Amino acid sequence: MNREVEELIRQGMAAARVGEKEEARRHFEEALRLDPNAAAAWLGLSGVVDSPEEKRRCFQRVLELEPGNAEALAGLAWLDRQQTPAPAEAPEVLYCANHPTVETVLRCNRCNKPICVKCAVQTPVGYRCKECVAELQAHYFNAQAWDYPIAAAVTLFLSIFVGAFLPWLMSMLPYGWLFVFFLTPPVSGGIAEAARRAVGRRRGKYTWLTTSAAGVLGGVLGILILWWQIGVMPWLTFLIFIVLHASTLSMRLR
Ligand SMILES: [Zn+2]
Ligand SMILES: [Zn+2]
Repeated sequence: MNREVEELIRQGMAAARVGEKEEARRHFEEALRLDPNAAAAWLGLSGVVDSPEEKRRCFQRVLELEPGNAEALAGLAWLDRQQTPAPAEAPEVLYCANHPTVETVLRCNRCNKPICVKCAVQTPVGYRCKECVAELQAHYFNAQAWDYPIAAAVTLFLSIFVGAFLPWLMSMLPYGWLFVFFLTPPVSGGIAEAARRAVGRRRGKYTWLTTSAAGVLGGVLGILILWWQIGVMPWLTFLIFIVLHASTLSMRLR
């Protein structure tokens, strides 16, 4: 398994543990796009998809790749048990810790406090209270106060240069817009990586948003400076660049 796939699986697991199912799912799916035979990614995906059919498909893929995989076998057995209705038994009636008048049968599986359906957050490892999820999220999103402005500043600075030069140089080539299509994602990806390194790879919940805004601003500043200094405005290649630039930044920093 290559390192990128391993890293994606590791990030997916980290996100799944704190209930960020969407994020986890994106990581696992990206890992599988790169390596459809990564059994660990199928196993991780089984924990973050919602329907039993999807879970079953994930477990079956794992077993195709690794016959006898204990986790996948246990998962399938668990799915089978879910589908046979359990005999009715009167569950213990509890009252939600936050809403003392609301009856419930759920407990947070981390701190064990009773929670109602409104207070419960479904994670791949079971129901948890919002406080526990927030605590784990704070751990996962470990950005510090200065990380947002630092990441934005790095992106802004680099985007000014790229925004001025890439569309301009490409506009001088025949079919330059086509080159913009292929060049922008790796270049913007490099800028995203630089921003990530500048903040010690810490994760911020809104890094993707502030950074892509800084990227658009930087790109626009770049093209305006070019116009002002050299008097050219390669608007077509710039337009393609800026759209791809913003979407690459937001995808890479999520
Ligand atoms: Zn809890
Ligand atoms: Zn409640």
